[in-house]
Amino acid sequence: GWGGASRLLDGLNPQQREAVEYRGPALLIVAGAGSGKTSVLTRRVASLIESREAWPSQILAITFTNKAAAEMRERVGALLGQGADGMWISTFHSACVRILRKEAENFGFTQSFTIYDSADSRVLLKRIIKELEADTFGFTPANASARISKLKNELADVESFARMVNTSDPQEAMFLAIFRAYTRALTVANAFDFDDLIGQTVYLFRAFPHVAAKYQRRFRHVLVDEYQDTNHAQYSLIRELTRAVPTDMVNELEAAGDHVRNLRDDEGKIPGASLTVVGDSDQSIYAFRGADIRNITEFERDFPGAKVVLLEQNYRSTQNILSAANAVIANNFDRKDKKLWSAGGDGDKIIGFTGYSGHDEAQFVADEIEKLHAAGMAYSEIAVFYRTNAQTRALEEIFIRSALPYRIMGGTKFYERAEIKDAMAYLAAVANPLDTLAMRRILNTPKRGIGPATETQLASFAEANDISFREALRDAASLGLGPKVTRAITGLSELLDEASALVAEGKVSDVITLLITKSGLVETLRSSRDPQDEARAENVEELIAVTKDFERNNPDGNLVDFLTEVSLVAAADDLDDSSGTVSLMTLHTAKGLEYDAVFLTGVEEDLLPHRMSAGEPGGPSEERRLFYVGITRARKKLHISLAMTRAQYGETSVAMPSRYLQEIPAELIEWRQSPGMANSRGGTQSRALNAQKSRWGDDSAPGLQGSFNGKALTEKKDWPNRVTNQVRDNGDLELQSGDRIRHTDFGEGRVQQVTGIGAKRIAHVAFDSAGAKKLLIKIAPIEKI
Ligand code: ATP
Ligand code: MG
Repeated sequence: GWGGASRLLDGLNPQQREAVEYRGPALLIVAGAGSGKTSVLTRRVASLIESREAWPSQILAITFTNKAAAEMRERVGALLGQGADGMWISTFHSACVRILRKEAENFGFTQSFTIYDSADSRVLLKRIIKELEADTFGFTPANASARISKLKNELADVESFARMVNTSDPQEAMFLAIFRAYTRALTVANAFDFDDLIGQTVYLFRAFPHVAAKYQRRFRHVLVDEYQDTNHAQYSLIRELTRAVPTDMVNELEAAGDHVRNLRDDEGKIPGASLTVVGDSDQSIYAFRGADIRNITEFERDFPGAKVVLLEQNYRSTQNILSAANAVIANNFDRKDKKLWSAGGDGDKIIGFTGYSGHDEAQFVADEIEKLHAAGMAYSEIAVFYRTNAQTRALEEIFIRSALPYRIMGGTKFYERAEIKDAMAYLAAVANPLDTLAMRRILNTPKRGIGPATETQLASFAEANDISFREALRDAASLGLGPKVTRAITGLSELLDEASALVAEGKVSDVITLLITKSGLVETLRSSRDPQDEARAENVEELIAVTKDFERNNPDGNLVDFLTEVSLVAAADDLDDSSGTVSLMTLHTAKGLEYDAVFLTGVEEDLLPHRMSAGEPGGPSEERRLFYVGITRARKKLHISLAMTRAQYGETSVAMPSRYLQEIPAELIEWRQSPGMANSRGGTQSRALNAQKSRWGDDSAPGLQGSFNGKALTEKKDWPNRVTNQVRDNGDLELQSGDRIRHTDFGEGRVQQVTGIGAKRIAHVAFDSAGAKKLLIKIAPIEKI
């Protein structure tokens, strides 16, 4: 009713309202960061359902991450006062997996196909490159996989590539051979790589019009967030999904009992779904993965008659933060100028900090976070961004030492661990017996005396008899291998049979328990002499807990569902609850998110812009957009930091301030002095910065290279060693309240309380001058006095 509809529009400005209420075939909402694009998209979904213009099942909303999807689902539910069952709110990848699981049998795959992540792809490519001796042509798993991925994002498959490649160039001929072998291996293994999920869905729709018609008929409204970062494959998917269903196809649907009468238009066809896309070309940061900004700039040409709505008011950040963002992005020449404004007042100045080293910088971040927290800001409202994953090491060391709760978002390391990949390979082998990669991974893991020669023999036997690797294991007795090896192979084969029998009965946790126990995976790690293996065994057992969580959240979920969830989550972002912790992430992961306080670290040349971007056309512009994305995540407090020396690529080198720093008007930043520098050198932060600034504007100047405040920076002893690189281990240092301790950074203090157990024991210490701190006893640089 009207009451509800007006509630959905509550507090929206006129342009936002229009974006929610407009009805028509195509709508493009372009606007800067924080102007409510995602909010408007969410309300639009709710409005379509509340007004009964669409059933939930007729809506497909695409978000950039799983986390964003979960948030949107929750908000739509809250706006409607009911759950939004049947609605598809997901990433491109999840939506495609869902479609492929249903439809893969149309083109020779089974419902239980495996999804290969980038690490799996590389293992496969490594094997292929070795077999083809392609390394002599300069091919590596990394460069081959990057090139294949790029081709797939352009929707080129082996056949189309073969038609355009110049095979008289031996290098190109070799690449074609790699691409061919790789494609064949995936097909044989009943597997899709990550790019295939989208490319193969497009292929499916184009090759099987009656399959496409099902989805074109189903989704009446398609909405896409972060449209500026769609690549050609994703763009094509959207085009296929929003096509009209032709009359003869509609007749077929009707004949098959589908009630489509009221969907038909005057000509008897079903018109294409209405499409809404929202985006900001200033936030396009995935060109390296094939994202094509033209998808947004040419939207009006692709979808004639499209309505365009512009939003200009920013509701997220204070004016100072916005002014900095506006000033920075204005330096990109290839853009339409748009100015964001905020009614939220100027707010605080941006805080700038230059540390000696990455550790010094990390200490600043940790100290500021503690201050914000002490002033009442929740840890979950604070985020730390960096350009490269390598930067986390220093941050993590300091955070652990300060007992500061944090978590790293994106690229869930847990699933990248070798022992977890081993255990997951057992599950994959059970779910998809054609998965050769998984079979070969577990063949001799844990070691059971099956050597590489036997593995090759099994592979050739499978090849020669046109059977799968799995079936070759069954026939191992006929291969004339030694009795011990044959027994080992038969044992594995029987374990896999036992596990697949268990799959039919139900619980994923029972299957994983059986596999990791009976295979000896856990036992081998437990009995190892390598102290790290104990932790590895615990990780593998942690998988049981993971599957039990999955069962709780998905009572009807099966093994394939579990594997799907893991592969999608591991590849994109994680769904774990981040309450109560500071979030650490790369700038790429930060897109679309917002926090009260943001720390942008490592704002240095070679990091931001990244040194790899220098040779790329448009590279520095894209890096500037990344910086813009980072700045615009902050609601109230923005911190920008850099270090004068940076340990990177295995060596410590002198760092230069990022060229983007000088693009921020000076009056918006308040530079803080580095305590270390003030104490030990008598220099001040502003002097340090002036030294750096005086070198800006002259491109030929070496910048900080080799000197600091006029002093040579060559000798190691000139570098700060306040924080050592090593994580120490205090073992079982006994502490209790009342004890006096000395800390290398904080000086002397008294232990107030000890909480936690084992390696996680935390001392709450009142330092004589540094105040109250919580320290992880095991590794804090402390001694009892
Ligand atoms: P980004 O470009 O970073 O993805 P966005 O354009 O999607 O940003 P949102 O995340 O939707 O912006 O909105 C930014 C913030 O502003 C959110 O906290 C949102 O709740 C708030 N907001 C949006 N519109 C309004 C409004 N009309 N009144 C008050 N707050 C609003
Ligand atoms: Mg958004």
